[in-house]
Amino acid sequence: NRAVVLKQRPQGEIQDGDLVLEQRPVRAPNNGEVVAQILWLSLDPYMRPRMNDAKGYMDPIGIDEPIVGESVARIVESRSDKLKEGDLVTCYSGWQEYVTFPADAPMVYKIHQKENVPLQTYLGVAGMPGRTGYCGLTYVGKPQKGETVVVSAASGPVGTVAGQTAKTEGCRVVGVAGGPEKCNFVINELGFDACVDYKAGNLEEDLKAACPNGIDIYFENVGGAVTRAVAPLLNDGARVPICGYVSAYNATDMASVETPFDVLKALDPVPEHRFFLVTEWQDKHQEITDILTSRIAAGELKYRETVAEGLENAVDAFKGMLKGRNFGKQLVHIAD
Ligand code: NDP
Repeated sequence: NRAVVLKQRPQGEIQDGDLVLEQRPVRAPNNGEVVAQILWLSLDPYMRPRMNDAKGYMDPIGIDEPIVGESVARIVESRSDKLKEGDLVTCYSGWQEYVTFPADAPMVYKIHQKENVPLQTYLGVAGMPGRTGYCGLTYVGKPQKGETVVVSAASGPVGTVAGQTAKTEGCRVVGVAGGPEKCNFVINELGFDACVDYKAGNLEEDLKAACPNGIDIYFENVGGAVTRAVAPLLNDGARVPICGYVSAYNATDMASVETPFDVLKALDPVPEHRFFLVTEWQDKHQEITDILTSRIAAGELKYRETVAEGLENAVDAFKGMLKGRNFGKQLVHIAD
């Protein structure tokens, strides 16, 4: 069994020697436990802050421990009547090839795979990021027909689902993404009304032109310059679901980062805004998974994926994702 472990905490961008691929024995299962083989590993931006020593909304990853992460895995040995050999699950396995865990551990979900819904989407638009986009937009953004919704990191799995959900609510949806290729995809494939390329050098003007009636909901994924460009365009009564701010995740000193909260609190009036966690709606896991997988199966929910092959390529793919080298959901394919 190979695992990617945290050898030392990265200072800024991840460097060689911070995350290391190592052999780790697979623990034999006790009563009530199962052994699972990881097929697909999800790479998500939140993993970077968890490599730091600061306590955020979750504990930091311990030194010498595998990097945290969710995967699609197949049960290969079972000492529990809850899961049997051959069952497919999503679970927080960490970055490794095999894992042993109690069958009733929290956040272990059996996959009831729908026809025409690829397995790996249960880590992407049909999984945690998809539920994040759906819940954040629906329950924190509270979209109304005709409103203008801006979604940053629009081509990624969270933004993809947030924006397409806003379209189904009858909103005008404007994406923000890096580069013309991603922007074309966001408009032509995802069906957003417009998409602003924040790297093109005209962010304020381009965003203003794309939002002639101002902004009613800003779905925040990135922070930084995008938030500063959004702020003056927010209408009275605007809502800002703060999902994350990936532009700051490699910062060496988080305390000196200008966060979306700083930008929004300086406005008069201060728009309604709050940070949310997808786990707030954990009780709706099945209900929302059903909504998303039905839309995928019907061809209504579009998405894109970038796949790295093998655990040995996970670190490079992860570093790339924090700079936008991924196009859509970043996955690592480990086994069939
Ligand atoms: P993505 O696949 O969208 O990957 C991150 C993207 O961020 C990159 O592709 C890149 O896209 C963009 N980006 C990187 N750096 C910058 C920058 N400096 N300025 C602007 N954009 C940048 O990730 P996800 O869809 O998985 O996640 C999106 C957000 O949702 C993250 O902030 C994540 O932490 C958050 N999240 C929050 C959850 C919660 O419960 N609150 C749960 C899951 C995710 P581009 O090329 O377009 O710049």
